[in-house]
Amino acid sequence: MARQGKRDTYHRETRVIHGEFDSPHWDYRNHIVPPISASSAYRLESATRGARGFLTFANPEFNRKETHPIYIYDRLDEPSRGMLEDNLAIAEEGECCVCFSTGMAAISAALGVLCKAGDRILAHHTLYGCTYSLLTNWMDRFGVKTRFVDFKDLDAVQGALDRNAMVFYFETPTNPTLELIDIGAIRRIADRVNARRGKRRRIFVVVDNTFATPFCQRPLALGADIVVQSLTKNIGGFGTDMGGAVIGPRLLEPDLLLFRKDFGAVLSPRAAWPALVYGLPTLAVRSRRQMETAMAVARFLAAHPAVREVIYPGLPAHPQFDLARRQMQDPDGAFAPGIMLTFVLKGDLAEARDKGAAMMDHIAANALSITLAVSLGQIRTLVEHPSSMTHATVPPEAQLEAGIDPGMIRMSIGLEAAQDIIADLTAALAHIEG
Ligand SMILES: *Cc1c(COP(=O)(O)O)cnc(C)c1O
Repeated sequence: MARQGKRDTYHRETRVIHGEFDSPHWDYRNHIVPPISASSAYRLESATRGARGFLTFANPEFNRKETHPIYIYDRLDEPSRGMLEDNLAIAEEGECCVCFSTGMAAISAALGVLCKAGDRILAHHTLYGCTYSLLTNWMDRFGVKTRFVDFKDLDAVQGALDRNAMVFYFETPTNPTLELIDIGAIRRIADRVNARRGKRRRIFVVVDNTFATPFCQRPLALGADIVVQSLTKNIGGFGTDMGGAVIGPRLLEPDLLLFRKDFGAVLSPRAAWPALVYGLPTLAVRSRRQMETAMAVARFLAAHPAVREVIYPGLPAHPQFDLARRQMQDPDGAFAPGIMLTFVLKGDLAEARDKGAAMMDHIAANALSITLAVSLGQIRTLVEHPSSMTHATVPPEAQLEAGIDPGMIRMSIGLEAAQDIIADLTAALAHIEG
């Protein structure tokens, strides 16, 4: 096909709108909008075709992107999800992508295919809560221990290594503290370890890119081996469906497909479709607008007398601003510090916590442009106060030790007018100061 040869010359932004229109998953020539396929099982014209389907599934000798998959059963492979996987691989600059029912299912699969009993994971000490629980409650039970270190301290990472360490795992930016981890620096440590190890014992660098999204940061190009994503957040973008993805080298694709087949957390084609048709194609335009607003809100908060500190990678006051500029870039190389920001209210521990809770209640009762809710990466601006919400049972002093400042508030910026968000914040801050 004529357009096929030129595809690589187009922008990623354009390519995720149009997809791999000659994908073996579907013939795009006759559709503008790809179909939602809904068939749990597939008709096989002959036993031979069935046999071939089983033979080629997750077989490293058959490349799913080049050989037309023989569909058998949704849990193995399925066309709507397959098209989303093609496009996510383009967006993240990866060789292959396998999608799961949620972000947590994707993280479980990535760690599940990389680790076996006796192996060790080295993880940054600040992690998404459920990831921390997965590592400490479940992986541990299966004989995979995790050692937590501060990945900003490269000597500490180096010092925590032992011969059983098989995975470096981290998020950047981290939640909710928006610290950054230098992906290239962790890659260099992994390379030094791998130079001394056999091929089957190489250590993998796994990055959760949910906060930045592939629009703001491509960890694979910066040195990661594997990216995990919660599609529930920015990539889905509209807050309608859950999903997760693992993007990485083709050599891991067969195991990821087999893991998904047997553990069973497949992304439903009905949930893949909105991410394919609405979410991913609008990620760039949403992100640009949301980042512009995030910057305006960050500047407003930084100048507000009730606020002690604003943490946003786009502000020169961010302690890792230079790393942010190097690492967080859109596909054209423009600085792309993301849509998440955190700020800390003034006051001693208990006072800051009470003010945070009062601010949340005021927003919930009065603000149209800001919604009190968990989750992030939606077209609506979402706010939460970890101290009085997720960590409410933990005393303020212990919260601080766990990295949760009692006065800390996290915002995920949406598509509302910046002036409205600032006006709603002004009113809520006046309320707690008044
Ligand atoms: C939400 C989130 C996850 C988990 O994703 P789900 O789709 O909710 O399972 C993992 N990592 C980060 C950073 C997240 O924000």
